Amino acid sequence: MEYIQTVLGSIRPEELGATDYHDHLITIGGGEEKADRDLRLDRVDYAIDAMRAAKAAGWGALADMNPIDCGRQVEMLREIAEASGMHIISCTGFQRGIYYDAEHWVNKYEVDEIARLIADEIEIGIEINNYNGPIVKRSAARAGVIKFATHYNCIRPMELRAIEAGCKASLMTGAPISTHTERGTMGLEVIGLVRKFGVDPKRVTLGHVDRNPDLEYHKRMAAQGVTLGYDGPSRAKYWPDSVLIELIKGMCEAGYEDHIMLGGDNGRASMWPQYGGGYGHNYILEVFVPRMREAGISRECIDKMLYENPKRQFSIVK
Ligand SMILES: [Zn+2]
Repeated sequence: MEYIQTVLGSIRPEELGATDYHDHLITIGGGEEKADRDLRLDRVDYAIDAMRAAKAAGWGALADMNPIDCGRQVEMLREIAEASGMHIISCTGFQRGIYYDAEHWVNKYEVDEIARLIADEIEIGIEINNYNGPIVKRSAARAGVIKFATHYNCIRPMELRAIEAGCKASLMTGAPISTHTERGTMGLEVIGLVRKFGVDPKRVTLGHVDRNPDLEYHKRMAAQGVTLGYDGPSRAKYWPDSVLIELIKGMCEAGYEDHIMLGGDNGRASMWPQYGGGYGHNYILEVFVPRMREAGISRECIDKMLYENPKRQFSIVK
């Protein structure tokens, strides 16, 4: 049995539609927001407005990639999904080690105990207060994907624990994995680790890898079965879109169009028109996809990135 677990319940993979594989709708509290106030997204009304506009532009689904204790607000995600009709997938797991202090339970519990806590968010319900206890209160929403994260050019001790726990939880529940890489580094190392922990790389999406737009590196990762998450369109501070278009073209020419998903990663208020910034959630469909078409990337390849690959990469397989 294969299904997608959204915050409003399970759906069939065919119901997903065009999917923004990695984005953010609400961030209140957590280590990232404390480190950088631009990462605070506290307006449910803005998110509803953005998701209504996203639906009108052609998006069908979005994964909110705030994991445990990174400002995740599951009940607000339910409200946004109900009001907008967008399929919203919430995640469990962890961000990078720098966002959890040494006294956090993730640095103290056994890996098996952490894996159980992750698995319970997939099988029973997301803990409303991010396991900040002492009482466990679960949402009716279950998580649909497991996140872990790696540092720039290295993997910190907490991150290694989170990778092992995430892999164990994936094996227990059949849930897929979607990661954070820092500037696209450590992709090959993560593939080696998930293999070591018994997870098929096909069940893993490596996030933000387009921030290291080295075609050979991307081919090597995709050849091992992982899907690559590209979420850099419009982010001229990293690369102009032309760099990403060339990367995607190269990947499609090498036959790897089954290994790419696209996302907005609008984690900053300054990236949302609703907060007074730009371009927001519709840039990919309204600007980047037409540019891919003009560059000669086929509709078939683009549809795989937007529709087909997410069906597979977000499926819970039992
Ligand atoms: Zn993100």
